[in-house]
Amino acid sequence: MPTLVMKFGGTSVANLDRIARAAKRVAVEVANGYDVIVIVSAMSGKTNELVGWVNETSPLYDAREYDAIVSSGENVTAGLMALRLQEMDIPARSWQGWQVPVKTTSAHSNARIEEIPTEKINAKFGEGMKVAVVAGFQGISPEGRITTLGRGGSDTTAVAFAAAFGAERCDIYTDVDGVYTTDPRITSKARKLDKIAFEEMLELASLGAKVLQTRSVELAMRYKVRLRVLSSFEEPSDSAGTLVCDEEEIMESNVVAGVAYSRDEAKMTLISVADRPGIAAAIFGPLSEAGVNVDMIVQNISEEGRTDMTFSCPTDQVKRAEKAMQDAKASGAINFHDLVADEGVAKVSVVGIGMRSHTGVAAKMFRVLSAEGVNIKVITTSEIKISVLIDRKYMELAVQALHDAFELEKAG
Ligand code: ASP
Ligand code: MG
Repeated sequence: MPTLVMKFGGTSVANLDRIARAAKRVAVEVANGYDVIVIVSAMSGKTNELVGWVNETSPLYDAREYDAIVSSGENVTAGLMALRLQEMDIPARSWQGWQVPVKTTSAHSNARIEEIPTEKINAKFGEGMKVAVVAGFQGISPEGRITTLGRGGSDTTAVAFAAAFGAERCDIYTDVDGVYTTDPRITSKARKLDKIAFEEMLELASLGAKVLQTRSVELAMRYKVRLRVLSSFEEPSDSAGTLVCDEEEIMESNVVAGVAYSRDEAKMTLISVADRPGIAAAIFGPLSEAGVNVDMIVQNISEEGRTDMTFSCPTDQVKRAEKAMQDAKASGAINFHDLVADEGVAKVSVVGIGMRSHTGVAAKMFRVLSAEGVNIKVITTSEIKISVLIDRKYMELAVQALHDAFELEKAG
């Protein structure tokens, strides 16, 4: 029988009524002839509550116990979903990560899935089980301890199961009805995309579109898992949601697929560092060890052997970045005159695989921003993305102007 993976996020299993509603969707796919693997999140708000309890009890907690506690929300929804399905006369049972077992690394609170053996679940399908309800977000380390996959990790559980079981598709049920050209809260002209390429989705996810965990998109791209993002509150239909798929499946599209933004960025500049071989390693090594996610980097022109180095990172990591740089200075590893943090910036990006074959997208983006009087502070580009750092107060204006200029309200 063909296999389908259906993942229900926290809002789709927020209470018993919603679990019952999700179970009805599962029943439809069982009737369509699928063996279904259901991946569930915890009830919405539950994981945050559990994380809060951990922090209150032990601020410098043992990450193995964090995982033991924080993974428990999914156990409850998996059991309830299995019971609900049984009440509908559908043979179903729940599986916690360790029972499958979902084998992960030992990186507690941020583990990676290494292997999902399919034998046990397939044996049960062979015996007549119709639905395997799996607790998302969790696994087991080589040491036999419970692990979790990082916040939002049940998306990754779902894609990994779809890859391991060769599922026909992986449907991600969430509280939005698909992937949009930009955040509809910023412009009402934002349009739902019918299809988006893996690479575009990967950029949008890592640029802050919260709809899918970035790692789940990476996995889907690697194993070519067709992903559909759709709302569990809408009536089912074939055109529902957005299909994240190989670019070959997309016949026509705009050069730019979407405009993404990230509000909480900071721009840090090290003034007057020695311009010598190894200086970048001496700066960014300690930042990475301190857990600072450096995004954009610019090294300015050097004068008399000294230069300024600018980088961006999330605002909540500014303190950590400052400490890492002051420590590196104190140890003599680097030397700089001053460290200036600008916490009032935001990043705006345009993304699209069409940029590979169309020139002029960057020039147009800069023209549009200049016409709005928006000053660009840092620019980075990749093959399918252009990002700029601007003053945060212009962020919404920039997103709206770019959405208009690239005519994203119209389908390509
Ligand atoms: N419940 C976990 C979280 O809130 C995992 C997930 O829902 O994806 O992060
Ligand atoms: Mg999520």
